[in-house]
Amino acid sequence: MGTIEDLRERTRGQVFTDGDEGYDEARRVHNAMHDRRPRVVVRCENAGDVMAAVDFARSNELDLAVRGGGHSVPAFGTVDDGVVVDLSGMRNVRVNPVSRTARAGGGATWGDFNAATHAFGLATTGGIISTTGVGGLTLGGGIGYLDRGLGLACDNLISADVVTADGQFLIASEKENDDLFWALRGGGGNFGVVTALEFKLAPVSMIYGGPMLFEMADAAAVVAGFRDMIGDAPEQLGGFPAFQIAPPLPFIPEDRHGDVFALIVGCWAGELDRGETEISKFREFAPVVAESVGPMPYPALNSAFDALVPPGLQHYWKANFVTELTDEAIQAHLRHAPGLPAVNSTVHIYPINGACHRVTPGATAFAYRDANFATVIAGMWPDAADNDANIEWVKSYYDDVAPHSESGGYINFMADDDQGRIRDNYKENYDRLVEVKRKYDPGNLFHLNQNIAP
Ligand SMILES: Cc1cc2nc3c(=O)[nH]c(=O)nc-3n(C[C@H](O)[C@H](O)[C@H](O)COP(=O)(O)OP(=O)(O)OC[C@H]3O[C@@H](n4cnc5c(N)ncnc54)[C@H](O)[C@@H]3O)c2cc1C
Repeated sequence: MGTIEDLRERTRGQVFTDGDEGYDEARRVHNAMHDRRPRVVVRCENAGDVMAAVDFARSNELDLAVRGGGHSVPAFGTVDDGVVVDLSGMRNVRVNPVSRTARAGGGATWGDFNAATHAFGLATTGGIISTTGVGGLTLGGGIGYLDRGLGLACDNLISADVVTADGQFLIASEKENDDLFWALRGGGGNFGVVTALEFKLAPVSMIYGGPMLFEMADAAAVVAGFRDMIGDAPEQLGGFPAFQIAPPLPFIPEDRHGDVFALIVGCWAGELDRGETEISKFREFAPVVAESVGPMPYPALNSAFDALVPPGLQHYWKANFVTELTDEAIQAHLRHAPGLPAVNSTVHIYPINGACHRVTPGATAFAYRDANFATVIAGMWPDAADNDANIEWVKSYYDDVAPHSESGGYINFMADDDQGRIRDNYKENYDRLVEVKRKYDPGNLFHLNQNIAP
């Protein structure tokens, strides 16, 4: 299949090339630092469209980018002069309340997913922002409020529909193409385009939680307190410590807007009437300056911080796994966190123990099953003129915490200059991932990702 006209004919969804109405909107991704001009964007509506787009890219030897929710910080979902498989036309989520499963299109966001499952009082581990894609987040692992109790998002994956580099459609599960299924759970977008994902769900409906703000002077006690209690805390308790500039929200005293705070964002997903008791444990670490904590539907917490990360910001992030969050590591955080460059920027220290640890390191591609935390230094700001200074802030922060961390970091939080750390990210699973890559994508058609070279 050679020409764009052939591609248009074979495709049910829209095909955008430069000059077409909607091209500029279709080429845009969340991170405005990467303003690329693809040869063609295919807004796929079904697996057949994806097969056509993959065939078109392969036969024309064009770079191929895959986009779900578009949140990739290195902007893997777009490419200059190549083909973009845009899955935003495939966002349907179907829930089976009897089997407690849900099947999401490859372009669904967590907002789409949670809205559909919440109607049945069900949920699974997903991201903390509703506009992030289910596909990209799950394939990289998937960290969120519910992971201590339910495992990572990828641990709840039952099967995936996949279009591979040769344009074939496969189902991957424990029963079929189990090598591919293993690799998809942590290996990112290296193995094909996932057109649908099937998850198991758990009864989670109302949660008790929200953000609590503490003075930076108390930050060491707050982070250490969280570290010391979360290892043995009930697994229904999720959330994370963070550093954040106070946005102008009514629950924060007006004269403190713009100040940097240590935060704990809590999420108790067990029996609602135990929520206040469980969340109160955080209040013992230090006096709370402001809080917005209470009962709410799980999707409300999942979208509570969306306004801080609108499309169009500049993003540069760095990440590490942490086995022992030492007092020295916390001090390293405290040297840099006060310099947070914008209200959009944040640093999160996610606990990934509990159910995440009960999966053995070799059971899925996600290897860091003994890490207790996944840290992200998420630099986000509105003005491109600040890029050099703010990238430097992220890098020097990272350089200071890295000696207190593992060599690998969570691939979904890593930058485009982290390709040298891929082997570290997968540790003993790396060689097996290369084998699966050689089988399903020997020509490395899917190379715009944290790449596992064949
Ligand atoms: C504001 C924000 C909040 C975030 N919060 C969290 C969080 O709470 N927890 C967490 O774990 N991560 C979080 N992340 C990181 C997130 O997991 C990654 O950015 C992830 O890649 C986003 O997936 P996406 O589908 O939105 O991105 P896209 O840019 O669309 O995709 C990124 C890459 O993933 C692969 N991919 C995506 N969909 C598919 C598919 N259907 N088939 C095959 N490959 C696919 C492709 O390689 C693609 O290039 C966050 C990111 C941002 C920007």
